[in-house]
Amino acid sequence: MGSLGTEPNVLQVAIVGTGIAGLTAAIALRKHPAIHVELYEKATELREIGASITLGPKWVGILNLV
Ligand SMILES: Cc1cc2nc3c(=O)[nH]c(=O)nc-3n(C[C@H](O)[C@H](O)[C@H](O)COP(=O)(O)OP(=O)(O)OC[C@H]3O[C@@H](n4cnc5c(N)ncnc54)[C@H](O)[C@@H]3O)c2cc1C
Repeated sequence: MGSLGTEPNVLQVAIVGTGIAGLTAAIALRKHPAIHVELYEKATELREIGASITLGPKWVGILNLV
C-alpha cells in the first residue's frame, strides 16, 4: 500500500483479494475521508466455500456479542 494517486492528501490504497480479510479492510478504510480504496479480485465469480464461522465462548466474550 502506498500513495499512488494524483489526488493531493488522499492516500490511494489497493487491496488485492476480496476474501473476508480484504473486504473487512476495505470496509474499515473507506470510513476514513483521506483514504481511497480500490479492490482487486482475480476470481471470475464469488461463491460459498466451507460451512460456518465458529466463535468459541472466549471470543463471544471478547467481542461483547452477548
Ligand atoms: C475448502 C475450505 C473450507 C473452509 N471452511 C471454513 C469454515 O467452514 N469456516 C471458517 O471459518 N473457515 C473456513 N475456511 C477457511 C477460510 O476460508 C479462510 O480462513 C478465509 O477465507 C481466509 O480469508 P482471507 O480473506 O485471508 O483469504 P481468502 O478468502 O482466500 O481470500 C483471498 C482472495 O484473494 C484473491 N486473490 C489471491 N491472489 C490474487 C491476486 N494475485 N490478484 C487478485 N486477487 C487475488 C483470491 O481469489 C481470494 O478471493 C475454509 C477454507 C477452505 C479452503
